[in-house]
Amino acid sequence: MNPNKVTDMRSVTEPTRSCAPRVLILGGTSEASELATELAARTDVTVISSLAGRVSQPRLPAGIVRVGGFGGVAGLISYLRDEKIGVVIDATHPFASKISGNAELACTALSLPLIALERAPWEPNEHDCWYTVPDAQAAASMVNHKHNRVFLSIGRQELGAFSNCNDAWFLVRSIDAPGETLPANSKLILKRGPFHLDDELQMLRTESISLIVSKNSGGTATYSKIEAARTLRIPVVMIDRPMKHSAPVVSQPVHVLQKLAQLL
Ligand code: NAP
Repeated sequence: MNPNKVTDMRSVTEPTRSCAPRVLILGGTSEASELATELAARTDVTVISSLAGRVSQPRLPAGIVRVGGFGGVAGLISYLRDEKIGVVIDATHPFASKISGNAELACTALSLPLIALERAPWEPNEHDCWYTVPDAQAAASMVNHKHNRVFLSIGRQELGAFSNCNDAWFLVRSIDAPGETLPANSKLILKRGPFHLDDELQMLRTESISLIVSKNSGGTATYSKIEAARTLRIPVVMIDRPMKHSAPVVSQPVHVLQKLAQLL
């Protein structure tokens, strides 16, 4: 077993501690993994990735990994202090607003530099039919009508908003089994992306899907469902992103590396 791979809650073990600046990546996204791969290969920094622990078998990034919440802002401040972190990179999911807010507060409290990465949202083109809604509750009230066959592709954390939707039929897709009660008329598929366009087209056709509910996650891994909706002229109820950062953000890992180079 690689000694740098640690999946216990709140623990980081390192066989040797170098004096290279220590960079914490708040991760859980493909961009965060890309940055970890890049930085773990370097000798001038030590990189630690932090995962929330939302999926049972996460794809572990390169370098040191810790898993689980820090215990709010106070816990994060203690962690950053104890682990002598010099720079924090927030590369969390666009919908993970709590951890981003906590990171801003903790970094301000410790006067630590924070580099925030947020991938660009998807934009509709002229062939798309999107209904943009602010949250999962709004999406649930919009789609819950008899005869609607809804592909619900929002992960599992916000599925509770659909628990009482008894009128529509739902095809629910998530990586792990949801803890929430599923809508009365539903079918569950457990699958992890990336998803390919041909498979998405086939699934939407086979299940006679008439509506899709999606979060505006951006990125390529799950974009094929949006392309498939366009091809089949299926409307998409698109859940808008929460407000995540008050500080400036960059949208590409390469810009994070440039900012990091300026700081080191
Ligand atoms: P969140 O609401 O921002 O965070 C809730 C708590 O989870 C945080 O306060 C923190 O706990 C812990 N946490 C989150 N990210 C962490 C990280 N990288 N390292 C350590 N602890 C972390 O985020 P969420 O509950 O994970 O997800 C919110 C939304 O984002 C959902 O819509 C979800 O589907 C989407 N999303 C999240 C991830 C992910 O990896 N987190 C991936 C894909 C999608 P403490 O306060 O105890 O520190």
